[in-house]
Amino acid sequence: MTPLEFDQKHLWHPYTNVEKPGPTFRVKEAEGVWLTLDDGSKIIDAMSSWWCALHGHKHPKITKAIHDQLDIMPHVMFGGLTHDPAIELGEKLLEMTPKSMQRIFYCDSGSVSVEVAMKMAVQYQHALGFQGRSKFATIRSGYHGDTWKAMSVCDPDTGMHHLFQGALAVELFINRPPIAIDEEWIDDPAANGLGELRALFEANSAQIAAFILEPVVQGTGGMYFYHPEYLNEARALCDEFGILLIFDEIATGFGRLGKLFATDFCEIEPDIICFGKALTGGHISFATTMTNDKVAQTIGNGSPGIFMHGPTFMANPLACVAAKASLEILAQGNWKTQTAAIAEQLRTDLAPAKSYTGVKDVRVLGGIGVIEMDHTVSADVAHGFAKENGVYLRPFSKNIYTMPPFITTPDELSQITAAMLKLAKVL
Ligand SMILES: *Cc1c(COP(=O)(O)O)cnc(C)c1O
Repeated sequence: MTPLEFDQKHLWHPYTNVEKPGPTFRVKEAEGVWLTLDDGSKIIDAMSSWWCALHGHKHPKITKAIHDQLDIMPHVMFGGLTHDPAIELGEKLLEMTPKSMQRIFYCDSGSVSVEVAMKMAVQYQHALGFQGRSKFATIRSGYHGDTWKAMSVCDPDTGMHHLFQGALAVELFINRPPIAIDEEWIDDPAANGLGELRALFEANSAQIAAFILEPVVQGTGGMYFYHPEYLNEARALCDEFGILLIFDEIATGFGRLGKLFATDFCEIEPDIICFGKALTGGHISFATTMTNDKVAQTIGNGSPGIFMHGPTFMANPLACVAAKASLEILAQGNWKTQTAAIAEQLRTDLAPAKSYTGVKDVRVLGGIGVIEMDHTVSADVAHGFAKENGVYLRPFSKNIYTMPPFITTPDELSQITAAMLKLAKVL
């Protein structure tokens, strides 16, 4: 059995039929934007490996931090013990993230950070005596992860609700914010989606712990960019009804939108925020849930007072030093000019697709470029063109999209956009 045959027979891949797995490349090395395959060919990782590899793969500063930490202490439990990597990362996070986010919970992956955020919201409401507030409100076409509670607030149609009907908690959905980021804001609740949010809160506030959503950019649920004013006004509605506001910045955080966080498009801050994906620059799995003093103190002063979550690998030192190194690279500030240049080139290069048959929309925000088709496209077909184009793209649903590493050069980006234009013609 060749290694690839073993893989196909025994290893499950994401969203894959184990009996009929799709085509798969065997990657031997990843460096910068390049993936080297087993036959020696090189392709550009135009996905930043699912939004993660901000500074490119195998960044020398991040790998050195992990190497050095490995020789000191790969791991210790976080119950009753602490360590400098966790503390120093915490200091760095407080410097960079929205100001009110003062309390940090480290966890293993994005989905877990969403579970933690949702648990915080329920424990907060219970501590205030609202035992009935255990449901969640959210907007359609969202994506929050694959664990049970996170799955319950993913889009009910494109998510897994139908498949897991009866096993999944029923949450409260409204339409996604109707006004896009590049459209003029309309100050009319019937037109801007906030009328629907108010109606939902009025009818159900006694049951709602929190309103959870991806701020500004909905990623996996549809690559949709909406107007941040929606979030400012949603904040006011949450306050009026005693509902917490949770921002899932797992995909949007750390410069991807051309601002450090999606929250930076807003005038307000959430009560709870989730970070993951790019937190370690794509080097090792890690995530964090952060909250304000109000939520932390309310939980702490309630009964039982303790917060009921504690992953085995909480605050893993290798992940902490990787995250700290990645944040230090960001703090040098090159991401601003890099993402601005990427956005400008994506706009120019992808514009011709607007006139292609089958293309519904072309949109760009920061380091994200999307060609939305009017039909569902196949990731397997795109995969088939990857070597020929020298670019790895993995479209989903109707979207052919890229979020390249920030270090992508103009020539490399031209290669990516050429591949996207070609796919828009053949998919
Ligand atoms: C990817 C993603 C998650 C889940 O993160 P995992 O690390 O895959 O568990 C949650 N929310 C958003 C917005 C995401 O993009």
